[in-house]
Amino acid sequence: MNIVVCGKIIPASTVTIELDPNTKRMVRKGVTHELDPAAASAVEEGLRLSEKHGGAVTLVTMGISEVTIGIRNALAMGVASAVHILDDAVAGSDTLGTAKLLAAAIKKQPFDLVLCATESSDSYSGIVHGQLAQLLGIPALTFAKEVTADGGRISIHRQSENGYDVVESTLPALVAVSSGINEPRYPQLKGIMAAKKKEIKVYTAADLGLAADQVGEKGAREKVLTIGRPPKREAGKVVTDEGEGGKQIADFLAEIKVI
Ligand SMILES: Cc1cc2nc3c(=O)[nH]c(=O)nc-3n(C[C@H](O)[C@H](O)[C@H](O)COP(=O)(O)OP(=O)(O)OC[C@H]3O[C@@H](n4cnc5c(N)ncnc54)[C@H](O)[C@@H]3O)c2cc1C
Repeated sequence: MNIVVCGKIIPASTVTIELDPNTKRMVRKGVTHELDPAAASAVEEGLRLSEKHGGAVTLVTMGISEVTIGIRNALAMGVASAVHILDDAVAGSDTLGTAKLLAAAIKKQPFDLVLCATESSDSYSGIVHGQLAQLLGIPALTFAKEVTADGGRISIHRQSENGYDVVESTLPALVAVSSGINEPRYPQLKGIMAAKKKEIKVYTAADLGLAADQVGEKGAREKVLTIGRPPKREAGKVVTDEGEGGKQIADFLAEIKVI
């Protein structure tokens, strides 16, 4: 089974996110990056399926040069090779522009299954996988908390409010996994050494047959109008217990209609 994992590489969780007031975009240049933990779950699921059914896992990602460290992380986990869409012309891509680029890169190789995370941990639009499935002309199975493959079919447990639904499809298909579907493996020394020799193909938008006005800022149909910080939280109410603390808390909860 040929598996492609679309994994975003994002600013590391230790980084304080800054927003550029002019472009209204997250400042990514010069910032330490890591494989999105949500994407690591998709990578892990891909590796487990390939270990069981054979075939190789390819990571496809779009991002600036800083994302190479996250690509190496996925390769060290066991991904066979990677595709990096790296081009200044794609900066400012909205979700549809991102999906067009990812779809074009996926079509460059044979694939049976495309794995995504339900949403990225930095922009968390949760739309790219749906757009991607549409552009690839394949079914999308989403919110998967369990994935099984059998011959030419794929089956998932789709997380629902009351439990799960079983959803099946023939391959090729796209599956978006829920966070917590698995515990992603830590790369071992052998994997880290092997990752250094694995191939990372680099494509520009032009290599993928996409013109500058279809992607990046020029092609973006979504616009970020304003950005701002959430309002500061008001100071809480301190109840000093001098024998009537419990009553005071109960009165307060009744006042705000919690009880
Ligand atoms: C006007 C505008 C300009 C923007 N400019 C930029 C910019 O310059 N740089 C930038 O990084 N973002 C930019 N963004 C945000 C951009 O839309 C999102 O980063 C990107 O389109 C994906 O959205 P998301 O991360 O919310 O995806 P989601 O829909 O939450 O992603 C779902 C899944 O799709 C896959 N996926 C999504 N993005 C990628 C990726 N890049 N590589 C591999 N797999 C992926 C992953 O599996 C992910 O878990 C911009 C947004 C707008 C509206």
